Amino acid sequence: MARLTTVVVTLALLASSVAGFAAQPPDAHFSEPQVHLSRVFHIEPVAPPPIRSAPQLIRFPVATVRAISIPEVTIVAETPPAPEATVPPPFIAGEGPWMRGTRVAQTGRVDVYVGMRTFTPEQVRAIAPRLEELLRGNEERFGFQLNRRVSLAFYRPALAPSTDTRGIAYTEEGRAAVFYHPHEDIERALVVASHELAHHLQAQRYGDDAQKRADIVLLEGLATWITGPPWLARYDTSSWKQRARQIRDMGIPLRLLGVQRYGDNIAYEVWASFVDFLIERYGMEKLHTLYESGRGREPGSADYRGVYGISLNELAAEWRAWVETKD
Ligand SMILES: [Zn+2]
Repeated sequence: MARLTTVVVTLALLASSVAGFAAQPPDAHFSEPQVHLSRVFHIEPVAPPPIRSAPQLIRFPVATVRAISIPEVTIVAETPPAPEATVPPPFIAGEGPWMRGTRVAQTGRVDVYVGMRTFTPEQVRAIAPRLEELLRGNEERFGFQLNRRVSLAFYRPALAPSTDTRGIAYTEEGRAAVFYHPHEDIERALVVASHELAHHLQAQRYGDDAQKRADIVLLEGLATWITGPPWLARYDTSSWKQRARQIRDMGIPLRLLGVQRYGDNIAYEVWASFVDFLIERYGMEKLHTLYESGRGREPGSADYRGVYGISLNELAAEWRAWVETKD
């Protein structure tokens, strides 16, 4: 039975540049996030969120081994030793939600679609295995595996909800899309796709309700942190602490609130560096608790004092001091 459900859309918005700040701004700069954007869809009621307990590494069933007929004469002594048992690649059976366009690939966990006037179906089919690799990297960093199959589509920018939107995750629906012109860099699109998959990991780990009221500092900071090295590689750096120093060296003050005026990519990276600091100093479990304490999208809505015993301002001062310490 269909019912009206408000779907909160997590947007990864990318502007074409951050004028004056990046020496060579990548094309994947986020604009003001429209995190309050809600859309109303007629959709099936969503299944209840998975039972949440940490750690959430889910064991996948061992790959099915088909019975094979054994030849009548088997010389056991000459049979080469069986290879070491290997962990099968993660796999979620079934189909992801339908999306517009053509489904060109199904990886272990992702159905991959492509629309018209973006990358070609051949290009998208060719990079599909990379999505699965990026997803696995995300899962290792986050300590949680995807438990529902998702669909991800490559579309032309004209189909984006706003002109500078490069990626969007409809986490309650299990869908995501990235928006690129035919001759743009598909590697950039992959990083954005990975960031959208990180939002799906968040939603599945914390549940739709917590995801809807997540503090944007943590929503985007953590999703960017989860995306990790492929994101940082654009800046020729390998750590969020270094990235924060690069941003500071551009003359941008390291502040958690108001940083969006410098562009969404800068905000997301500053927040990712703050998340990195929180995880390094206080551990992942507290971060999970903090994430779930969000009271809305406003920056700073989570209960920092309740979780860490000090205010967001005090934590921010600790973070700025940490940024100056050696890697
Ligand atoms: Zn995002």
